[in-house]
Amino acid sequence: MNLYNSLTRSKDEFKTHTPGRVEMYTCGPTVYHYAHIGNLRSYIMEDVLEKYLRFAGYDVNRVMNITDVGHLTSDGDTGDDKMLKGAKREHKTVMEIAKFYTDAFFEDCRKLNIKKPDVIVPATSYIDEFIKVISALIEKGYAYEAGGNIYFDTSKLEKYYVFNDFSEEGLAVGVREGVEADGNKRNKTDFVLWFTKSKFEDQELKWDSPWGVGYPGWHIECSCISMKNNGEYLDLHCGGIDNAFPHHTNEIAQSESYLGHPWCPQWFHVHHLNTEGGKMSKSKGEFLTVSLLEEKGYSPLAYRFFCLQSHYRKGLMFSWENLDNAAAAYSKLAARVAQIEDSGDIDEEKYNKLKDNFRSAMDTDLNTSLAVTAYYDVLKSDLSGSGKLKLIKEFETVLSLGIIGEAEKLKSAKPGGDDIPEEIAELLSQRKQARKDKNFALADEIRDKISEMGYAVEETREGTKVRKK
Ligand code: AMP
Ligand code: ZN
Repeated sequence: MNLYNSLTRSKDEFKTHTPGRVEMYTCGPTVYHYAHIGNLRSYIMEDVLEKYLRFAGYDVNRVMNITDVGHLTSDGDTGDDKMLKGAKREHKTVMEIAKFYTDAFFEDCRKLNIKKPDVIVPATSYIDEFIKVISALIEKGYAYEAGGNIYFDTSKLEKYYVFNDFSEEGLAVGVREGVEADGNKRNKTDFVLWFTKSKFEDQELKWDSPWGVGYPGWHIECSCISMKNNGEYLDLHCGGIDNAFPHHTNEIAQSESYLGHPWCPQWFHVHHLNTEGGKMSKSKGEFLTVSLLEEKGYSPLAYRFFCLQSHYRKGLMFSWENLDNAAAAYSKLAARVAQIEDSGDIDEEKYNKLKDNFRSAMDTDLNTSLAVTAYYDVLKSDLSGSGKLKLIKEFETVLSLGIIGEAEKLKSAKPGGDDIPEEIAELLSQRKQARKDKNFALADEIRDKISEMGYAVEETREGTKVRKK
């Protein structure tokens, strides 16, 4: 499999430290608000990647943190703790909102067919681990105490800016733009490992540490949670592209300094879901959630389909029109699958050829839009009905569009739709059976009868439709 690697800036052959086993880490949500559908784009694409690795035969250990402390509004060391902001907004405690939004996140994931990671760790449950690693970094000379806080000393590294996707200049400007310049830092790129003294007097969650009562920085959380649960050699680290700097850059700095060897050779970054106003973001206040899509009548899985129709390394423009198109295509696809009769022998050669097309799409830097077209190739093929269904079910273990379930729903729905009278629905069922028995004379007779009752029957690609004349 070839996968774009942000660290090498090229599509590399996917490799693992231990043959057949993937140690995978994903930056989890900051649970101060609902996840927006942009965040969920990242989690959908990461879910597909994980499932494809399993499909390809790997044993995957996927670890995710839940950020419930330490993530400041700037992504760096300035601003307020996002959790505190959320708690104030809702007049609740930090732990109350953490629980509420963690549950809401996994509920969204369930609706989107995103599998739960194997290991999920809330940052607040790992304080001892953070203290252990920070102490070791101080001992090794990679961290220092200044003004009460503990900082990582980036001047000790041979190379700090590892994701040269961005120019060093550009990144440095980003750092300089921090609103509150921190005079304690020896170098402008140094970052906080542990906040002790602070401008954050009202920080609700604080823990005892060798450096005084305080709380961890965001970046150290992911390094520690991964090193503890994935081991010393991580194979694949995932996140949205905004995490590449400073978050992932800092994770690499800490982890490699602590371990004394390279940590993670492959980095998978999902590009943003954008709206006309730019990147969808929680801090802007106006953002779209899965519940909102549902309220507007969209199936969450139609949103998943929308995401899979485009490549993860391209920004994706959200508009209601684009979602409408995806939702219509999704329903059509389900209707076509619903038409398949589960019968006939399976031609192995044809079956494997179609499966290879799917694999080669996914092997080419996770080309999900091409993988979606593999469903249509199956439908168009002359494979038997049972072959088609079996193959689509295989694809579904990776793309999880819920297309089989959707097709089943259509099949069990009342013929002609819910607003059609019982007797018309009954006649439609009889006509369907007549057509199945190739008794077309009877089918026509029933159609005429339905027509006399004031309803028109139409054959469409999605099956038989009926409407009031
Ligand atoms: P957060 O909850 O802010 O920690 O973000 C959770 C994940 O969503 C991270 O991997 C972010 O990089 C990612 N993310 C944030 N905004 C977007 C967006 N507009 N489109 C795609 N992914 C995003
Ligand atoms: Zn992280």
